[in-house]
Amino acid sequence: MQVIPPALERLINTLAGLPGIGEKTAMRLALTILRRPPAAALELAAALSALHTSIQLCSGCFTFSETDPCAVCADQRRDGGLICVVEQPADLLAIEKTGVYNGHYHILHGVLSPIDGIGPEEIKVRELIARIENGTAREILIATSSTVPGEATASYLIDRLQSKKVKLTRLACGIPMGMDIKYADKYTLAKAIESRGQATEKS
Ligand SMILES: [Zn+2]
Repeated sequence: MQVIPPALERLINTLAGLPGIGEKTAMRLALTILRRPPAAALELAAALSALHTSIQLCSGCFTFSETDPCAVCADQRRDGGLICVVEQPADLLAIEKTGVYNGHYHILHGVLSPIDGIGPEEIKVRELIARIENGTAREILIATSSTVPGEATASYLIDRLQSKKVKLTRLACGIPMGMDIKYADKYTLAKAIESRGQATEKS
């Protein structure tokens, strides 16, 4: 006997596939949507279907954007010679909130994680190297998180970029070990950017 109507079950299963949402939460969300007026569900559906049609990756920094280049890459007042390398678009937003950074970004879209089968080809490393070789970058600020995969990614990048004619820097102290930078408060993150240090392979 089918207890849950198939249409409801489909929504529950889809929601439960999202990170941080278990089956109970998915059920609660689905029932909430069902109890609300149909127009609210349609608005949610419209917002979801507009995601992929109106948002793309910026061809400069690879952040999510409705325009290409994105607002940061297109901003002539920003320093194009300074590129901050981060794991995810959320990290760019966290750094922008500090208000102390005036350079460009490069979003890797992940970190190296051999256990999960994520090597350099799976993240935007090749694109970063091409950007350095073909562009005008003079400083690369590596701002991966101080987690084990974040550190491993930073070491790998330093190794790959050492022969390039760019200064390599990393975020300074202030960010606790093991912390994802998007959870750092903006003052801590601002301090870490301002007092960034020379990047070395064993950092
Ligand atoms: Zn961009």
